[in-house]
Amino acid sequence: MTSWIDPDFPRTATPTDLVGRVLGLNPGMMTGPGTNTYLVGRRDPILIDTGVGEPGYVPLLEGYLAERGWPRPARVIVTHRHRDHLGGVTQLRTRFPGLAVAKMIHRDTELPDPIDDLRDGQTVKGDGVTLVPVYTPGHASDHLCYHLLEENAVFTGDVVLGGSTTVIPSGDGDLADYMASLRRLQALGVTRIYPAHGPVIEDAQGRIAEYIEHRMLRERQILDALDVGLDTIPAMVKRVYADVPEKLHPVAAQSVESHLRKLAREGRVREDVVAAGSAPSQPARWRLT
Ligand SMILES: [Zn+2]
Repeated sequence: MTSWIDPDFPRTATPTDLVGRVLGLNPGMMTGPGTNTYLVGRRDPILIDTGVGEPGYVPLLEGYLAERGWPRPARVIVTHRHRDHLGGVTQLRTRFPGLAVAKMIHRDTELPDPIDDLRDGQTVKGDGVTLVPVYTPGHASDHLCYHLLEENAVFTGDVVLGGSTTVIPSGDGDLADYMASLRRLQALGVTRIYPAHGPVIEDAQGRIAEYIEHRMLRERQILDALDVGLDTIPAMVKRVYADVPEKLHPVAAQSVESHLRKLAREGRVREDVVAAGSAPSQPARWRLT
């Protein structure tokens, strides 16, 4: 899981005639080589995502635009509100005044700048390209993927990644929504995936099926752990994520919690209410119903 921070990942690339890629220069445990931003179109490209706001990003983007003979991005569309996708908006607008930015406005409390609302199915047209927003909550409640009709490809943001599994954050994340989103992407019948982190995925259907199977496996493992009497999230993480480095266990704990919340909604497990007076640090106890 940590090996996906690839220092040799190209800073810019041109996967196809219609798609260019510029790296957000924010490598890390959660971002892999960094956030991919994509320029889509034959000319006047649409920029998908903005990186986190690393100072080196705008010069890198400008260099790539110049290489392609493009003065600026026509507009920006964002996959979701997480900082490593939205954090570059301010610096981009400083460099390209008046740049229009759109995302799905949903449960947003503090957006950095004026941003236009974009909804599922509200097609965005560029030069020789058609991008259809596909509402795909689960990793984030405001998440849009973008279906590029001309290539039968999809920009998956953080729903499907090139080299890791997606985190379902407690709070805004929702595993049941996430599974439904994966099935929605599957039903598009796309052949290629442009993820927000990691390399292009050519076997889109295979990867989506793997993602679904991976979650179902985790669910079975968690049910097994409950069945043998493990009743707290830390204990379940230790068993289910035995092959994962311990420093990633806090992230794994969020994942286990997301599974438990989904199972609870389905009526298959329940969370025991902690008795009054017990230590607040006491982890919640779960059991099969
Ligand atoms: Zn994210």
